[in-house]
Amino acid sequence: GKNGVPVAENFRLEQSTIPDTIQVGQVRVRTLYLSVDPYMRCRMNEDTGSDYLLPWQLSEVADGGGIGVVEESKQDNLAKGDFVTSFNWPWQTVAILDGSLLQKLDPQLVNGRLSYFLGAAGITGLTALLGIKEKGHVAAGANQTMVVSGAAGACGSLAGQQIGRLEGCSRVVGIAGTDEKCSILVQEMGFDAAINYKKGDVAKQLGELCPGGVDVYFDNVGGDISDTVISQMNQNSHIILCGQISQYNKDVPYPPPLPPDIEKIRKERNITRERFLVLNYMDKQGASVLQLCQWIQEGKLKVCLVLTDFMISLAAAFQSMMTGGNIGKQIVSVSK
Ligand code: NAP
Repeated sequence: GKNGVPVAENFRLEQSTIPDTIQVGQVRVRTLYLSVDPYMRCRMNEDTGSDYLLPWQLSEVADGGGIGVVEESKQDNLAKGDFVTSFNWPWQTVAILDGSLLQKLDPQLVNGRLSYFLGAAGITGLTALLGIKEKGHVAAGANQTMVVSGAAGACGSLAGQQIGRLEGCSRVVGIAGTDEKCSILVQEMGFDAAINYKKGDVAKQLGELCPGGVDVYFDNVGGDISDTVISQMNQNSHIILCGQISQYNKDVPYPPPLPPDIEKIRKERNITRERFLVLNYMDKQGASVLQLCQWIQEGKLKVCLVLTDFMISLAAAFQSMMTGGNIGKQIVSVSK
C-alpha cells in the first residue's frame, strides 16, 4: 500500500530450479552482492510515482542493483570468471541473465572490494558527486556552507564528508538520527558538525552551526527537517533535491510540494529546488566513476558500508535501511 511502513513479512524466500542450459546471448551468474535502497519502497506501490521505476509484482522475484560472477557465458564479450553488474539484478543466488544488459567491472579500480561498485564507486557515489556538480553550484573559493540531511546514509555520507569539500565548500554540517551517527560524521568523515534531529531544537542548532546561513542543501529526506533548513538558506542558494525518504511511506506526489510558508521563503530568496535524477547523467558515468575510485584509493573518500549476510535476510536489511538502523550503504552479501 502507498501508506505504510514495510516489514520483513512483505517478502518471502523460496527455492526453485533454473534451467540447466543457457541460450545464445545469455549468461549464468552467481550473485555476490545485492544493494538495498530507499527507492525500492516506491517499487512496492502499483504506481511508483516515476516513469523510470517499474513496480515489483506480487509473487515475482524482486530486483535492484547487484553484482555477480559469470559462471557460463554465451554472450560474446563476457567469459567465465568476469565480474558483472546490473541495475535490475534479480534477488536470486544464481540467475540466467541477458548478457547485453550487463556491465563488466574492473575489480582493480576498487582494490578488489567489489561491493564498492554498488556504493561509493557506483550509483550512490555518482548521486553524491553529480548531484553536487549539477545542482549544487559549488565554486572553489566561494566559502560556501553546505548542509546534508540523511548525512549518515549512503549518499549523504559521501556527499558531505569529502565531495562537498573537494568541490570547494568551506563548511559542511550533517543532520542524522543518532548521537553515534553524528559523532562518526564529525570524527571520522570530516564533517565540521552534525545535528541529531531526534534531539533538541534543530533550528536553533542549525543557526548556531551555520552563522552565515546555508548556501547549499543536499536534501535526502524532505519533510520537517528540510523545511527547517530551507528557512535558514541564503538569497540565491541551492537545494540539491536528491531524495525525500521521510515521505516514501506516504501517499504524496514526488517531489512533494513544500508547505506554503516555506515555498514563499524559497521564492522570495530565489532558492533553486530542481529535481535531480542521477540516471539523467549517465553520459558522465565513466569519468565520474574513475574520479570516485581515485579518491577512494587516495583515502580522500572514506567508504562506510554495512554488509549483511544473505541468510540473515534481505528483507530485514531493507527494513533496517528504511528505519535508520544502518550507517552508510546497506549491501547484502550473497555468496562468499
Ligand atoms: P540511506 O541514506 O542509506 O537511507 C536510509 C537513511 O535515511 C536511514 O538510515 C535514516 O537515517 C534516514 N531516514 C529514514 N527515514 C527518515 C525520516 N523519516 N526522516 C529522516 N531521515 C530518515 O539511503 P541512500 O541510498 O543514501 O538514499 C538517500 C536518498 O537519496 C533517498 O531519498 C533516495 O531515494 C535518494 N536517492 C536519489 C537518487 C537520485 O538520482 N536522485 C539516487 C539514489 C538515491 P537516520 O538515522 O539519519 O534517520
